[in-house]
Amino acid sequence: MIRVRGLTYTYPNSDKQVLKNITLEVERGETLGIVGPNGAGKSTFCHALMGLVPHFYHGTISGEVIVNGVSVVQSHMGEMCRHVGLVFQEPIHQFSGAKLTVEEEIAFGLENLGVDSATMQERVDWVTALLGLADLRRRNPYELSGGQMQRVAIASVLVLKPQVLVLDEPTSQLDPAGTAEVFAAIEALRAEGVTTVIVEHKVELLVEHCSRIAVLVDGELKALDTPSRVFSRADAEHWGVEIPRYSRAYRALDPASESVPTTLHETVERLRDYELSHRG
Ligand code: ADP
Repeated sequence: MIRVRGLTYTYPNSDKQVLKNITLEVERGETLGIVGPNGAGKSTFCHALMGLVPHFYHGTISGEVIVNGVSVVQSHMGEMCRHVGLVFQEPIHQFSGAKLTVEEEIAFGLENLGVDSATMQERVDWVTALLGLADLRRRNPYELSGGQMQRVAIASVLVLKPQVLVLDEPTSQLDPAGTAEVFAAIEALRAEGVTTVIVEHKVELLVEHCSRIAVLVDGELKALDTPSRVFSRADAEHWGVEIPRYSRAYRALDPASESVPTTLHETVERLRDYELSHRG
């Protein structure tokens, strides 16, 4: 679904490579999490998946980015919008400013594409049910909670049925309740088979909802593997990314262990095994 090969990128008027020779693939239906310190290139990478890099930002790019069979570099923004949806940190930036109800806001993109009203109705019904927004359809989008707003923002992108959804720190402005709502939405996308890439600092939640984690540090892809394999690596502490608290706690108990759990569920299982093997 996503194939990136040797992606290297430099912004205009700069000599710093912000993405350095990145190669990775994301399968259809996969949920890939991206972590990395501030300035690592995570947002730039998200922008490269939908063509903002290089078509909006310009700069110097090499390598290839293929999304849903289309070359981002050789294509243009209008074309890429049909394949990739991008959700930003602040839901309010995503809103049209022209609509007074949630359902109108969600339908706005379809309206612009001239989609017929029966299809529009069907799509809005589907996405509001999927993201738990059915009861909010008549509400003013600007009077919702942060978590509700972000779900509306996700819905307004998802309603266009992109093959790939990219979420760039979608919970950074949200409280724990709003964050939980967004992760429930991500779980719904997963069940629906949407290919999702998500940049997120809340690592415990990320590892629970992603099949693989990519670690970006200073423009380089340092690791790309299952959460457990990524955070079991000896160099994980040097990346400047948060390590799941369960992994840290388990490592303290069993420093010699080759692999650490990353979620509460895995940790409970591992502790059971640990206790059995150390009993007596
Ligand atoms: P992250 O999302 O991991 O915090 P970014 O992709 O935002 O990282 O930024 C990566 C690097 O690119 C940083 O050094 C940042 O200063 C630089 N950068 C980001 N946007 C621009 C831009 N529009 N022009 C020039 N440099 C930029």
